[in-house]
Amino acid sequence: CGIVGYIGSRNAYDILIKGLHRLEYRGYDSAGVALINPEEKLNVYKAKGKVSDLENAAKNQDLTGTIGIAHTRWATHGEPSVRNAHPHVSESGNLAIVHNGIIENYSELREQLKAKGFHFKSDTDTEVLVQLIEYAMDKHHTNLTQSVCHALRKCVGAYAIAVIDRRNPKQIVAARKGSPLVIGVGKDNSEFLVASDASPIVEYTKNVVYIDDEQVVTAEIGKQLQIWNLDKTRANVKIDEVDMDIDM
Ligand code: GLU
Repeated sequence: CGIVGYIGSRNAYDILIKGLHRLEYRGYDSAGVALINPEEKLNVYKAKGKVSDLENAAKNQDLTGTIGIAHTRWATHGEPSVRNAHPHVSESGNLAIVHNGIIENYSELREQLKAKGFHFKSDTDTEVLVQLIEYAMDKHHTNLTQSVCHALRKCVGAYAIAVIDRRNPKQIVAARKGSPLVIGVGKDNSEFLVASDASPIVEYTKNVVYIDDEQVVTAEIGKQLQIWNLDKTRANVKIDEVDMDIDM
């Protein structure tokens, strides 16, 4: 299973698909991608099977946009199917998430969210997380990063996540606990990549940031990468140079 995210000035789809191929060795049963197009529309494409099946499903669709997230899924909650494939989208249609890992207390959270009027379209634990982030955002009138911190404090389990908001296409928020996640920082903060390992990143930048468990990252075009602890305090950002050659 794997995660790739991109924000910058290039076409996100091509980079995301290439990244998913590089992560294929990790194993998976389905794949998907979410893109925000220049009109701030969120386009989501998914397929059961291989990354090449996803490419077929996305053929002739709107693949524009310079921000997106993508996923290969190894199902833990809900059978492998298009409807359970990631990305998952929040009730309002504004937020999209990809997640590797398990949210152990998802059924309890799901019941609480249902009681608050949220509808669920999949059988996954992941969908609970994107709804919880949206709930935190609405309830506390706060930004995506703070909402992700808030939601993750309520979750028990393991995760690597990347989240985007249709209304703010300059930003990706990512976080991890127990599952791997690496951030690539482009020249002058003009682009960022998020991935399960460095292999989808090194073609674009050698500058990477390894984040710790229970940390949340805000990657915003033109700004320094910001890292937060779940209690919303700031953490230090240490940029490493990755030494990795790949076949182009
Ligand atoms: N638990 C999530 C699901 O079943 C994520 C699985 C994964 O790590 O790919 O959809």
